[in-house]
Amino acid sequence: MPPSPAHHDLIIIGAGFAGMYMLIRAREMGLSAAVFEKGGDVGGTWYWNAYPGARCDIESLEYSYQFSEELQQEWDWSERYATQPEILAYLNHVADRFDLRRDIRFGTRVTSARFEEAEARWLVESDDGKRGTADFLVAATGCLSVPYTPAIPGLESFRGKVLHTGEWPRAGVDFRGLRVAVIGTGSSGIQSAPIIAAEAEHVTVFQRTPAYSVPAQNRPMDPEQQAGIKARYAEFREANRLQIAGFGSDCPMNEGSALDDNPEIRRATFERYWEEGGLLFLRAYADLLLNPEANAEAAAFVREKIAEKIRDPETARKLTPYGYLACKRLCADSGYFEMFNRDNVALVDVNETPMEEMTETGIRTSEGEIPVDAVVFATGFDAMTGALERIDIEGRDGLRLRDKWKDGPLNYLGLEVAGFPNLFTVTGPGSPSVLSNMVPSIEQHVDWISDCIGWLRANGKRSIEADPGAELAWVAQVNAIADLSIYTHCNSWYLGSNVPGKPRVFSPCLGVPDYNARCAEVAAAGYEGFIVR
Ligand code: NAP
Repeated sequence: MPPSPAHHDLIIIGAGFAGMYMLIRAREMGLSAAVFEKGGDVGGTWYWNAYPGARCDIESLEYSYQFSEELQQEWDWSERYATQPEILAYLNHVADRFDLRRDIRFGTRVTSARFEEAEARWLVESDDGKRGTADFLVAATGCLSVPYTPAIPGLESFRGKVLHTGEWPRAGVDFRGLRVAVIGTGSSGIQSAPIIAAEAEHVTVFQRTPAYSVPAQNRPMDPEQQAGIKARYAEFREANRLQIAGFGSDCPMNEGSALDDNPEIRRATFERYWEEGGLLFLRAYADLLLNPEANAEAAAFVREKIAEKIRDPETARKLTPYGYLACKRLCADSGYFEMFNRDNVALVDVNETPMEEMTETGIRTSEGEIPVDAVVFATGFDAMTGALERIDIEGRDGLRLRDKWKDGPLNYLGLEVAGFPNLFTVTGPGSPSVLSNMVPSIEQHVDWISDCIGWLRANGKRSIEADPGAELAWVAQVNAIADLSIYTHCNSWYLGSNVPGKPRVFSPCLGVPDYNARCAEVAAAGYEGFIVR
């Protein structure tokens, strides 16, 4: 007989921003918790995405925890937008400061989780044979944590380096003297390619859809600005909670419509927000993501700006984005378009020149073979649902999560799923998650989950799960809101349409303030829309 697995109040899957904070809250509540983490240390997304040029496109002073005033006062950020190493250093500081590692089992990938109805507990198993049981299972598995690599014929025969931005080698990569292919031009490709091009002998960027990108306008942190925000941190966080995406309160949204201003004023407004940098550009007018005509005005402005940066007209033509601005996530870059003026950078538009196969020594396109020594897949993730569906999660009556979600991720509030009692998903599909500043959204979820567990215990209840009717209504509401926007009018990972065969369903919930209010109301009403036993 194998020994009985250790029992905990909570098992938490993942030790990124979400799992770490969940562990802190569990301890504060006097609950025993064990964290299972696939990586070799804390960090989650920021552990794995260690590619050159990786940095956040939400400002450092906002993309950080707020649960501890001492923590937010003692940590200093060095740049407006933090690099991946700086965010990872911050998370390591948090792990040290709160002594988190003693409850985290690293190098342990959870393979299955089964709800044992008689005991109302979860049995969790991992790839290293470790098992554990818990009253509550918290999936802090991340929204963008399963890298997606397209099935390119011949990939296995390629003899050079094969890399993915979302699974970067811990030791880094020396690109000196190498000819490199970068496939994909989303945020990861746009950030990494210019840095790789500065080091490598040659870079060929393979593009399928030209990206809309706005300069990040990154700069060293202004110490006065940092001190100023620290002096009013609580108010600043509160003001951000009232923003549609949970950030940017110091760059107020221009509440008008882009169509109400005359062309000169509109242009001046776009210029002003362009100078703000990155995602803040979308605050130039309140209707940019809602009104196709307003969006077209902003898109034309961005196209013009991009064209000004590229010397070769043919390259500029290929790089010119089309369709709705920010329907795929808007990118924030530092010298991406300017990179194409370098002699050692080439662009292949795979719509005009398809990639046919990989050979031992390069990539064969319809126009011949391009010899390369390394291929960087910047091809994104099986987002939102990928990590949860990779685990064999079995709820009541043998119901499997991946079967339940075969037509899309049914859930209530992005927090719970009918048929899976006491399983909580942090920033799950159906919550603002990737359409918001992730860190405060994580804290809001973890606080809600902690309060819910506290309430269950105080009221002598053993389990909570979503009501099937509430779940259907919620997913319908999330999609109805999305249909009012431009988001459903293109192919994007928000819709799952970047992964062949994945059902096309819009997963994130638009609008942080309304969402947060709804979560609070549901809890105040004794967990309305949930079945409590
Ligand atoms: P992504 O946005 O999904 O971009 C993947 C890219 O690969 C797209 O250009 C896509 O083209 C291309 N692609 C996929 N399959 C291909 C194929 N078979 N052939 C050619 N091209 C192919 O992934 P990502 O860049 O890793 O970013 C994902 C998300 O992570 C971002 O949207 C953002 O939310 C987050 N992120 C944030 C930051 C930041 O904070 N600065 C940095 C990196 C990532 P199509 O567009 O045609 O599908």
